[in-house]
Amino acid sequence: MQALRQDGRSTCELTLQRSDGTFFDASIDCLRSSRDDALTHTLRVAISDITARRKRTDEERRIAAIAFESQEGMMVTDPNGVIIRVNRAFTKLTGYSAEEAIGQTPNLLNSGRQDGDFYRQMWEALKDSGYWQGKLWNRRKNGELFAEWLTISEVNGPDGRTTHYVGAFSEITRHLEAEAEIHRLAYYDALTHLPNRRLLLDRIAQAMAGSTRSNSFGAILFLDLDNFKVLNDTRGHDVGDQLLLQAAERIQMHVREGDTVARLGGDEFVVMLLNLSADAHEAAAQTRLVGDKIREALALPYPLNGCDFHCTSSIGVSMFRNHDVPVDTLLKHADLAMYEAKNAGRNTLRFFDPAMQTALEERSALEADLRNAVSDGQLRAFYQPQLDDSGRVIGAEALLRWLHPARGLVLPGDFIALAEGTDLIRPLGRWVLESACQQIRKWSASKVTQHLIVAVNVSARQFHQSDFVDELAAIVARTGADPARLKLELTESLVIEDIDKTVRRMQQIKAQGIALSLDDFGTGFSSLSCLKRLPLDQIKVDQVFVRDLASDPDDEAIVQAIVTMGRILGLDVIAEGVETIAQRDRLREFGCLRYQGYLFAPPLAPDEFERFLCEGAGS
Ligand code: C2E
Ligand code: MG
Ligand code: MG
Repeated sequence: MQALRQDGRSTCELTLQRSDGTFFDASIDCLRSSRDDALTHTLRVAISDITARRKRTDEERRIAAIAFESQEGMMVTDPNGVIIRVNRAFTKLTGYSAEEAIGQTPNLLNSGRQDGDFYRQMWEALKDSGYWQGKLWNRRKNGELFAEWLTISEVNGPDGRTTHYVGAFSEITRHLEAEAEIHRLAYYDALTHLPNRRLLLDRIAQAMAGSTRSNSFGAILFLDLDNFKVLNDTRGHDVGDQLLLQAAERIQMHVREGDTVARLGGDEFVVMLLNLSADAHEAAAQTRLVGDKIREALALPYPLNGCDFHCTSSIGVSMFRNHDVPVDTLLKHADLAMYEAKNAGRNTLRFFDPAMQTALEERSALEADLRNAVSDGQLRAFYQPQLDDSGRVIGAEALLRWLHPARGLVLPGDFIALAEGTDLIRPLGRWVLESACQQIRKWSASKVTQHLIVAVNVSARQFHQSDFVDELAAIVARTGADPARLKLELTESLVIEDIDKTVRRMQQIKAQGIALSLDDFGTGFSSLSCLKRLPLDQIKVDQVFVRDLASDPDDEAIVQAIVTMGRILGLDVIAEGVETIAQRDRLREFGCLRYQGYLFAPPLAPDEFERFLCEGAGS
């Protein structure tokens, strides 16, 4: 029993025995009071049965102890942050035993991943609200990092002062990894790990908002590898992937931190440059510099499985500042500029300009009109005479003309490529063939014209249609034209695709009695060995070499070489674009004895052509 305190009170708890022999927990409260004379003292003792209360407390302690040993890691610190207790889960998660942890501070687990600011904010929150929770990275005893979700609660004594801190944490490393993986899959390209279209669009939108504040320009560079498809088709996708990885690396080497390199899929990459000059011209110059560096880097040889592969790139650029254009329009502009770069011969960089947009809109309007051109009877075949060296007209090239109801006469240069880009080339090509065959049939009735050979241009797309040979035979049969009077003009681009298949198809055409000529010869890349395999009757020297004959020795040498090659291969050689007598004379000197060009006549409507014949051509 304790001594009485100064205030004359004393309290204690004891186990007492009742008269019936049973025990009970008792709280004994003593109070001493003194009379005025201070000689007489009264001691009042109150005994209360606290068995039930004590049971409850014990229970609570047991529950607390079980709770403390839960799956969550727990640690209790004193107000100075010194660990005074940890549970078994703590040991399991961190690798530190209770003995090792007690007496240390939680700094024991510090991974260095969070900075001073992080911990300062944590302490501030604890002081303000007595509570903090959040995610942090810690380090286990074995050095391994792990992520945890931590809750810290302050424990206060009856006087309001902090007596302890209790920290409870569970590991969330897997969860975070899964979250990161989901994020990676949603926003990054699986092959190159570069941002994908979705993340790029987000970043552009952010950058636009940023440029409003800073007033500086940003740029979008749309890149497409020029020869990727060939590699992918011929060497397989694994090699294709290797090239894409190398290309991605090269692009990244030429941008600054804060710029974005994204892969949209296939061989298309987008680079976003930020914080360029606020001056439009200077910003464009900066962009060109970076773009050219990337282009040059991409054009270097790619070592792939022991041999070097060459692949250039075409780059389209659109500049932005503020929200002047929507994000998808901005990308579309860069894409359009990229196509311009391709059209300009590849391995180049082009800026988007609004005139390009207008031209494009016009193109699609033209395409819509072209769809009706055949059915509305707006197409015409004109014929340009082909002569021998005695000035006799030996044939004609059929050249397509489009009589557009509003635009007037439209030349093939403005619509053939358009038709080739769509399936329109089919009905168009069929129409020309049909029309030329009808003309042959008509001309077969007159002595003046029955000897004429009519050449018809066939585009690559048309030639490679699976039913082209059958269609050709059907047209010849239907019109009743003599196939020996028909000649097809093919281009080199058509031959490159699949030489075996092309040769087979050409033989099938020749078997019908139709002749074959190789148009625009000298501008393509066909090798002599390739040329040797083609069952041709004629090669046609392209007009670019004819133009500077008699003035450019290089062109003279080329024409001479072509004529010699034709002779060796047993082929007839014709020159197109002959405009002057000097050119014709030079060609004749070199041994080229067939001519076509304005010197003799432009392409003519059939009746004009007949008149030209009757008036005595080339004299
Ligand atoms: P191409 O087959 O090389 O035709 C020769 C082009 O040169 C024609 O242009 C012709 O008008 C032009 N030309 C003729 N003589 C001279 C000359 O002395 N000087 C100059 N500077 N040019 C001359 P056109 O008719 O505008 O045809 C352009 C191209 O369009 C043709 O080039 C051909 O590739 C294509 N094309 C024309 N008609 C058809 C067709 O029916 N089908 C297909 N697939 N393509 C066609
Ligand atoms: Mg031609
Ligand atoms: Mg030509």
